[in-house]
Amino acid sequence: MNTILPYIKNKALTSEKVQNRVKELILELRVNKVLSAHHLLYILDHIDETSLEYLFKQASEAKQPFYGNNVYLRALIEISNYCNKGCFYCGISRHNNRVNRYRLTVEDILTSCDKAYELGYRTFVLQAGEDPRLTKETVVKLIQKIKQRHKDTRITLSLGEQDKATYQAWFDAGADRYLLRHETASKTLYKAIHSNDMSYENRRQCLYNLKAIGYQVGAGFMVGLPGQTNEHLVEDLIYLKQLNPHMVGIGPYLCHEDTKLKGNASGTLNETLVMLALVRLSLPKVLLPSTTALGTVDETGREQGLLAGANVFMPNVGPTEYKKDYEIYQNKICVTDTTETCYICVRGRISQYQHQVNFGVGDHVDIERMTSYDR
Ligand code: SF4
Repeated sequence: MNTILPYIKNKALTSEKVQNRVKELILELRVNKVLSAHHLLYILDHIDETSLEYLFKQASEAKQPFYGNNVYLRALIEISNYCNKGCFYCGISRHNNRVNRYRLTVEDILTSCDKAYELGYRTFVLQAGEDPRLTKETVVKLIQKIKQRHKDTRITLSLGEQDKATYQAWFDAGADRYLLRHETASKTLYKAIHSNDMSYENRRQCLYNLKAIGYQVGAGFMVGLPGQTNEHLVEDLIYLKQLNPHMVGIGPYLCHEDTKLKGNASGTLNETLVMLALVRLSLPKVLLPSTTALGTVDETGREQGLLAGANVFMPNVGPTEYKKDYEIYQNKICVTDTTETCYICVRGRISQYQHQVNFGVGDHVDIERMTSYDR
């Protein structure tokens, strides 16, 4: 059973004494950047509206010394929705034969990059399912082409699990960052939501390989998964502290009716905001996206994410006609927007919440300021 944020169900837990203890532990995490599993669990089991506000304030302050109120924009291009993996929560997994599959052409991708560059974007995120046609060589050529046109940019890849030689070849070609959510740090839960051919150990190994090669690495997880408990979420926080990634992507689990997990409740805004804030306190320098999934559970979800410690937005700059087909979850927002309308909308939203867009490349604060062309 999902037990996150029990105050919704059990008001008796919200005594002043309990809430003072929750606030003490939040402050301890802010100061020491680490907390025992037992104390992290205490926060998740007892947090209520009053301590929630305190948590968000602490998380928002924790990012100030490193990033201020800057929000880094990443130009997301969903280059293919083919996938040979069987994640039970995902609308484009190989199990779903109702998907209208597509692959963008190289020209489509380059045009998307050009448009985004003109608007000021300096990071391109190339995302796809695990598409066997996205071979080592194909992606190397693509990275080189993008970097030849736009030297002062960063390329982030989100192309799933690959062998180390492939990751190395893509890095050598000019890729700078790699996103690979660990999805959940609980081995039991991982197995419950993935097909038998998927390996919890291999996914973790991929993350260590990416770090060893020199990528800025992004891990991450879903909140509100069927069967997920607060103990599982504590495992996520502890795993992230050990891995120490440069980026962490956190989104609510959103149920898709054409998946094996159909009929389950989705994660909520507050559950996800709590986890964002705890990650910010634990890893104050991390780049933390306020995800489109947050904007899908609540109209102002992404903006509320900023107030809970997030500092990255990832607007989709790919061709509008394909956006609806990258349906990893249902009712995704912005699928009819163009690159330009999305850009205007996002800038307005960010400034309304006392943040400002930063059009630098937006590296992690510990990364040396050099372009991959200089490597
Ligand atoms: S989550 Fe990624 S790897 Fe898993 S099925 Fe969806 S696109 Fe494929």
